[in-house]
Amino acid sequence: MEHFYTLQGEGYHQGRAAYFIRLAGCDVGCVWCDVKESWDRSKHPDREVADLVSTVKQTPAEVVVITGGEPLMHQLDLLTAELQRAKLKTHIETSGAHPLSGSWDWICLSPKKFKPPLPDILPRANELKVVVFNKSDFGWAEQYAAQVSPACKLFLQPEWEKQHEITPLIVNYIKEHPQWELSLQLHKYINVP
Ligand code: SF4
Repeated sequence: MEHFYTLQGEGYHQGRAAYFIRLAGCDVGCVWCDVKESWDRSKHPDREVADLVSTVKQTPAEVVVITGGEPLMHQLDLLTAELQRAKLKTHIETSGAHPLSGSWDWICLSPKKFKPPLPDILPRANELKVVVFNKSDFGWAEQYAAQVSPACKLFLQPEWEKQHEITPLIVNYIKEHPQWELSLQLHKYINVP
């Protein structure tokens, strides 16, 4: 759908330079989705893997974040193998709702209520990032925190449109449950893609 060099705005790698490749297609259907234009894969052109890798290599990027849409609707073995062959770190942002493919240096699992993750990805996640839209999402987040590996980093992120209402709840929740950390969509505050 699009690709751009920017800063990672969310989660564990927040603030780091990263090249984003946003793949088209999503059938998860989050009501608050901020990239609904990604949902229809047929509205976006195919790209050659070699062209994408060469475009990334024209920048000093060390990390490539594959996002969407739901990137695991695509088979990602070739893309990630070529990125790693070019000495780039491969990160993914996924709901986990489709089978895991690809070779990953970092897996950020962001489960969605609208189409829950498949069980296989849970022990593979390096980072669990739960978007909090209402109070019941804290309990839902804990269900997944209980299923990821002990080393997995845990993040709670306010849904952007409800941030003024939800962020204070997250702050209080983290103070009571310090295994969690706050993730903010930094890129939206500093106006970068
Ligand atoms: S999984 Fe991501 S792209 Fe798909 S609907 Fe949800 S927020 Fe949007």
